[in-house]
Formats: sequence, structure tokens, C-alpha cells
Amino acid sequence: MNTHFDAIIIGGGILGVSTAYELAKAGLKKICVIERRYLASGSTGRCGGGFRQQWSTEANTRLAMASVKRFGELEAELGYKTEFFQGGYLILAHNDEEVAQFRKNVEMQRSLGLDVKMVLPSEAKEIVPFLDEGKMKFATWCPTDGHINPFLLTQAYANAARRLGVEIHLWTNVGSLMKKSNTFFVMTNKEVYETGMLFNCAGSFSRSIGEMLNVEIPVDPYRHEILVTEPVEKLWNPMVISFGVGLYCRQEKNGGLVMGMGDPNEPVGTYVGSSMHFMFEMSRRFTTLFPKLDSLRIVRQWAGLYEMTADAQPILGPVDEIENFYQASGFSGHGLMLAPAVSRLQAELVTTGKTSMPIDDLHVRRFRGQKAIHREKSVV
Ligand SMILES: Cc1cc2nc3c(=O)[nH]c(=O)nc-3n(C[C@H](O)[C@H](O)[C@H](O)COP(=O)(O)OP(=O)(O)OC[C@H]3O[C@@H](n4cnc5c(N)ncnc54)[C@H](O)[C@@H]3O)c2cc1C
Repeated sequence: MNTHFDAIIIGGGILGVSTAYELAKAGLKKICVIERRYLASGSTGRCGGGFRQQWSTEANTRLAMASVKRFGELEAELGYKTEFFQGGYLILAHNDEEVAQFRKNVEMQRSLGLDVKMVLPSEAKEIVPFLDEGKMKFATWCPTDGHINPFLLTQAYANAARRLGVEIHLWTNVGSLMKKSNTFFVMTNKEVYETGMLFNCAGSFSRSIGEMLNVEIPVDPYRHEILVTEPVEKLWNPMVISFGVGLYCRQEKNGGLVMGMGDPNEPVGTYVGSSMHFMFEMSRRFTTLFPKLDSLRIVRQWAGLYEMTADAQPILGPVDEIENFYQASGFSGHGLMLAPAVSRLQAELVTTGKTSMPIDDLHVRRFRGQKAIHREKSVV
């Protein structure tokens, strides 16, 4: 088996396969993705599938806008259906503080060219009919946000990457790493691989990959639970988000409602079991906003990991300590929607030495200095 590659990518989630595809498309040869289980077995296969461009930081908004543009091209380019659907995102503001913050967000987003606006509760109810509009003060509405099937998107990128010659080695666990002169040695449960360029796309486990080379990648895993209800008739198109109540919810193509919530009491850890607490609390929060939908039945719940950074923004690009060791992690619960842009930027960076969009502010060194951290506020 060939174990010498020009580039090795650790992780077979959406970041790993999209990066492999973009690198191959940019002309790099001999690329390998190493995944310890199967494709999308990490957070990617457990996520809510939403994509939105409504953020409080400029960096996230720019990345998300570039990704949505890319989503629109991908089905044709990759030759695979992904259930890409632009049904919009409706984000609810419940108090004056949120209204003020949302106004700022919308102003910044519009200055970047996004079609987004503030809407009154009555308008929000027209978009999402079952909403209790008495529970909100305003909402923001972006019709080009939406959702996509994470399994299909992963498969689409992986198949296209394979067609360009990328190798994907599954059930291969990276146990340790070493760099000698210009070569990385990647020790796995199967073979020792060698490469000149290494990508850390290990999601919630990126910190442990960094540690193997004595580089601190400050990404911590937090369990995030999610459920799906029985299929019902079409209720609405958008993803609905409330940071105040702490939930997101959308309807699947087959009619089931997918919903999840943030839990500030969740400790750092990699446990992904399900809890009764979540089922009851999620139901309570959902029926607070949608009281008329209180008889929906839950059919399944599961959990995955949010890969959090201190400012809830990703860590991208090289590191100062080791040359040719690139990071794409710390997406803080939003990696599916940012992957199309990020993977392309990574390919630009390593093939041309520059990126078409600034990513310096997302370098890991921002956590090492004395600089104030600007936290992304729009996170459930
Ligand atoms: C409940 C939930 C809902 C979410 N909803 C959304 C959403 O609506 N929209 C959105 O954009 N994002 C959402 N996310 C976040 C999104 O799932 C992640 O940000 C994204 O999947 C990250 O992709 P990744 O490829 O970086 O990581 P992962 O998908 O976790 O992939 C990393 C891979 O690395 C592998 N790996 C780790 N260590 C090793 C090793 N030592 N050797 C070999 N392989 C290794 C793992 O097995 C894994 O497959 C959600 C997440 C959760 C948990």
C-alpha cells in the first residue's frame, strides 16, 4: 500500500473531504484522507444540516456568504444531489437587548451585501404560521439561508475527490505524529504514513492531534443533543432560531421536525449519549414558541459534539510552531455550513500562498496574545 503522500488530511468529516476535493481540484497530487471510523461518523453525521449567513462577526458572515454561493454550485459540480434547500432562517428577538444587537448584525450583514432584514412579529408569523408571535419583539429574516443533507454532502465531496485521485483510508486511527526535517510521520493502527503537508480536520479531537506535535489547538468538545419528530404535513420552510429560548428547529423533506438546543450546564467532554432531561427540556422550549404543536411525537434523539473555541469562531490556516501544519477546526457548532468556503481557502493558501478572503483573524495565535477576544454572539 502506498503510504507516501504530498498531503494528508486527518478526519473524514465534512472538513476533511471538502479540503481533499479542493486540494485535488487545485492541482495537488497524491492526497490521502485518514479517518478512524467511517465518513461522517463524527459531528458531521450528527448535525442539524442548517446553513445561515446571519452572524454577529464579519469573519463568520463573509465565510458563510461564500459558502452559500458555493452550495449553489456544488450539486452540478460534484454530480450528486445534496437536498440543498434555501428555505431561509428566521431568528427571533425576545427583548430590547436582542433587538439592539440584531439591528447591529443586520446593518453589518447588509453592508457585506446580504439580503436580510428585520421583520415584525406579524410578518414572522406569516413566514412561520405556528409561531406564537406574542413571545417575540422582532425577528431577522434571510431568505437565502437554508439547509442541506450532511451525509449526502459528505458523500458528494468524497466521491468527487476519489475521482480526482484522492485516497480515503477508513478505520485508520492516527495514534501519534512526528516531524523530521520536512517530513511528517503519521503513525496509525495500520501503517506509518509520510507526507510534507498535514491538515488537522479532526473536529472535536483537533486538540489531541495538535498535542501530538506539541502545538496547542484550543478546541474543546461539548455534547449537543438533537431530536426528530414524526413526519407531519408541510408546516413551514425556514430554520427558526431563538438564542433567548435557546433552540433551533426546521422541517425535514419527509416532514419530520429536527430540533436542538444549547445547554450551558453541559461539561467539556466527548460523551455523546442521550438524556431524558434533553427530551423534556427541548419539548418545553419548543412548545413555548409553538404551543399549538404540542401533540407532535418524538421518534428519535441523538447527540454529537460542538467543537468550541473561546470566541466561538473557527481556527484556520497554518501554525507558527510547525511549518506546513494546517488547521480547520473549532467551528463551534457551524462547520457544515462553513466547509465549502473554508476548504477552498485552504486550497488557495497552500497552492498560491494567499487567500481570496482574509483569514488572518482566525489564526490560532489570536488565543496566545493579550488581544481582547470578540466572541461570536449568534450561537445556540
Ligand atoms: C447536534 C449538532 C447539530 C449541529 N448543527 C449544525 C448545523 O445545523 N449546521 C452546521 O453548519 N453545523 C452544525 N453542527 C456542527 C457541525 O456538525 C460541525 O461543525 C462539523 O460537522 C465539523 O466537521 P468536521 O469535519 O470538522 O468534524 P467531524 O465531522 O467531527 O469530523 C472529524 C473526523 O475526524 C476523525 N478523527 C478524530 N480523531 C482522529 C484520529 N486520531 N485519527 C483519525 N481520525 C480521527 C473523527 O472520527 C471524525 O470523523 C452541529 C453539530 C451538532 C453536534
